Parts: sequence; structure tokens; C-alpha cells
Amino acid sequence: MQPNLLILGGTSEATSLAEIIAKQAIKATLSYAGRVERIAPQPLPKRVGGFGGSDGLKTYLKTNHITHVIDATHPFAAQMSEHAFVACQALNIPLLRLTRPEWQKMPTDNWQHVADMNAAVSALAGDARRVMLAIGRMHLGQFIQHQQHFYLLRLVDKPETPPQFADYIAEISRGPFTVENDIALLQTHNIDMIVAKNAGGAGAFAKIAAARQLGIEVIMIDRPVLPKTEISHEPQQVLDWLKHNPALP
Ligand code: NAP
Repeated sequence: MQPNLLILGGTSEATSLAEIIAKQAIKATLSYAGRVERIAPQPLPKRVGGFGGSDGLKTYLKTNHITHVIDATHPFAAQMSEHAFVACQALNIPLLRLTRPEWQKMPTDNWQHVADMNAAVSALAGDARRVMLAIGRMHLGQFIQHQQHFYLLRLVDKPETPPQFADYIAEISRGPFTVENDIALLQTHNIDMIVAKNAGGAGAFAKIAAARQLGIEVIMIDRPVLPKTEISHEPQQVLDWLKHNPALP
């Protein structure tokens, strides 16, 4: 039986994998949540929007005769990963998580690890700081309780409604970001604290490397715990995994 993949995307790993899979002429669909306004053209057919929970995903997998699921979502997209796990278990469909290794703290880094977004918000109680909030747009609202700070926001799209911060600047950019540019950005705005998710990977690392060079404190939000599945860090390795997990009739 020929494989028919569902790739859960929204990351650079998913985009790299899509190129590899398209070159091999393997049938696959790339799925997006639909969070960003523009999706770059992809070499695979795409679908956009939620499935309707794990039951909706089960229905999608059955209706579309999906043989394998590659969960290449962001490490903080915990709900999607949980739904993929539940649906694949129920239907006995092989599931692989394609994810980036975590960033590792170096001895000279000034990181404060926190368990989740709520803990990051709590870490901002206290005197006024100049904070870069590098957490995307979804959780900005949680930080409005701390109006004493200046916030530098970096967002993919311009927010539809302005964030309710008294003092902030929003940088709208998709990257790629460089360490040199991020050092300049942090210096321009006199940033003395960064709040970031431990996303891993190269794309978002520039600000962390910049903080390392400038000795800036980082509130590092640890990754959520995800269901145990097979994991790969390299898009190319997915081809080997497919060979070892042939499509079931
Ligand atoms: P989430 O909390 O895990 O997912 C919320 C819901 O969004 C899911 O239950 C699902 O809806 C839908 N969804 C998520 N990813 C999907 C996908 N690839 N295809 C179809 N539906 C999807 O996810 P999130 O943190 O909001 O992230 C949303 C998307 O942005 C993900 O694709 C992720 O890879 C990407 N992203 C996230 C982050 C981050 O920091 N969280 C950063 C960069 C990119 P239903 O229950 O209706 O199926």
C-alpha cells in the first residue's frame, strides 16, 4: 500500500519536510492551524484550520485514508500533539514527532527557568524593566497586569487590536533574525529582560545568542510535557522512519 501522509505543520521543520516528501513524490497533505495571515507557497497540497479535536482528527484520518502522521508542530503546540497522539493510537496509525532539540543553558547564561506562561507572568512582578516579550501574540493579554514595564513585542502579523500595554513597541517581522540585528535591537530599546519559550532551533535563537553576548536576563519558559512518541530531529530521517513503518492496508 502506498503511504499517504498527514504532516501537522506551522514550523520550518514541516516546511523542510514538505520539500523532501514532494521530491520523493510521496502522497502527503500539509496541515496548518490558520494562525497567520499568509502561508508561503508549499510543494504539497495543504489544508487549513482545526480538525475539531481528537474525534474530528480521527474522522479526517479515516475519511482521507491517511497511513502516517508526522507531528511537525511547534514544541509548544501541546494540544495538537495530544490530539494527534490520541487519534493515531485509536486508529493504530504510526505517528512520528519531528521536533527541534531544546536550547541548552550555558554556564554564563543568565536564565531563569519557568514551567509555563503563568509562571513567566509571575516572574514579571516587581520593579519596572524593559522587557522583550518574544512569545508570539496569543498570550500577550496575560502580561497586561504588569503595566510597570516597557515591552518590546516581535510579532509575525500586525495585531488586529492593539495590545493593552501602556508603553510598548511592536516589531512586525517573520525573520530570519540574525544575532547582529538582535543585539542592535536589544541595545536600541535598552532591553534588560527577555521572555522566551524554549522553542529550540536556529530561527528564533538569535535573540537568545544576543542576550548571551549582552548578559541580559532571560525568563525561559520550559516546554510542555508531550505524550511519548517516536521522535526525530531531522526532516531527512522521516524517510527512514517511513521505510521502517510501511503503510498498513
Ligand atoms: P495548539 O494549542 O496545540 O492547538 C490548538 C488547536 O489548533 C488544535 O487543537 C487544533 O484544533 C488546531 N491546530 C493546531 N495546529 C494545527 C495544525 N498544524 N493543523 C490543523 N489544526 C491545528 O497549537 P498552537 O500553540 O495554538 O499553535 C498553532 C499552530 O501554530 C501550530 O500549527 C504550531 O505548529 C504553530 N506554531 C505555534 C507556536 C507556539 O508557540 N505555540 C509557534 C510557532 C508556530 P482542533 O482541535 O480543532 O483540531
